[in-house]
Amino acid sequence: MKLYDPQTIRAIKNRYGFQFSKSLGQNFLTDKGVIDGIIEGAGIGPEDLVIEIGPGIGVLTAAAAEKAGKVIAIEIDRNLITILGDTLAEYHNIEVINENVMKIDLNALISREDNVEYKSVKIIGNLPYYITTGIIMMLLESHVPAESITIMMQKEVAERIKEGPGSRTYGALSVAVQYYCTVDLVEEVPKHVFMPQPKVDSTVLRLNLREKPPVDLIDEKMFFRCVKAGFGQRRKTLLNSLGQTGYNKDQIRQCLEEAGIDAKRRAETLSLEDFAALANAFSSLPAEE
Ligand code: SAM
Repeated sequence: MKLYDPQTIRAIKNRYGFQFSKSLGQNFLTDKGVIDGIIEGAGIGPEDLVIEIGPGIGVLTAAAAEKAGKVIAIEIDRNLITILGDTLAEYHNIEVINENVMKIDLNALISREDNVEYKSVKIIGNLPYYITTGIIMMLLESHVPAESITIMMQKEVAERIKEGPGSRTYGALSVAVQYYCTVDLVEEVPKHVFMPQPKVDSTVLRLNLREKPPVDLIDEKMFFRCVKAGFGQRRKTLLNSLGQTGYNKDQIRQCLEEAGIDAKRRAETLSLEDFAALANAFSSLPAEE
C-alpha cells in the first residue's frame, strides 16, 4: 500500500471517518521523493533509534522503519492511533505513543531503550507549523541525547534558523540553534506535495547537535538571558533592550564596554561570540549586596 498516495489518504479518511485537524497542523506528505529525501538526509541506519514527532498516518514512520533499528513515533491525535495500528501493522520495529511531544520526557523515553545498543538517536519529523519553534527549543533546551534532528518546517522558519548577524530574520531562534547545532539544508519542499495543501512552502533542515558549544560560557543561562532581552526589543539599542535582563544602565554600559560592544548597537548585529563575551561580562559582575 502506498501510504503517501492521495487516493490512499482519501480512502483512509473515508474508512475511519477521519477529518484533518487544522489546529494540529495536519498536512500529510504525498510525495515519495520528498519522504526518501528526509530519510536519506537523516542518514538512518540499522543501528539507529529514531524518534519521530507527529507520524500522521505513518508515511515517514514506515520509510524510517525500513532502515532503522527501531522507530518510536509520538502522535498527539488519538484519532490517528487506530489508523497507525493498521497502516504500520507489518512493521515490528515501530512503537507508537499517543502523547503531546511537548509534555513527554524524551530523555526518559530514550534511556528506557538503554538495554539495546543503538549507535545513535536520530529525531525526525514533518513538524506541525503551529508549534515548530516551540518543539525545536524544547529539543535543544532539554539536551536530548540525539545525534541529529532532521525536520521539515515552514520555509520562513528555516531561513530564520540559518541566518547570521545583520539579517532581518536573524534572531533568538538563529542564535539558539547555531549555539547547539551545525545546520545542513536537506531539501526545499513545495506546498503542492501535501494534503491538505498549506499556504506556504517548506524546508527540511538537519540540525547536527554539537559535542561542544562553539563559545566558552561562564553561565549558559546568562547567555540566553542576554539573547532573549536583546531580541525581545530588537529595534532598541542594546543599552535599552538589555534592561530586560534586570541589570541597571551602569552595569549594562560597563559590560558592553568590557565585551567591546558599542552600546548603540542592536542585538541583530551581534554574533554568537559577541553574545558570549557580553554574557561572560554579566556573569563576572560582583554579586549585589
Ligand atoms: N508525518 C506525517 C506526514 O508527513 O505526512 C504528518 C505530518 S503533520 C505536518 C504533523 C503531525 O503532528 C500530525 O499528525 C499532528 O497530529 C501531529 N502533532 C501536532 N501537534 C503535536 C504534538 N504537540 N505532539 C505530537 N504530535 C503532534
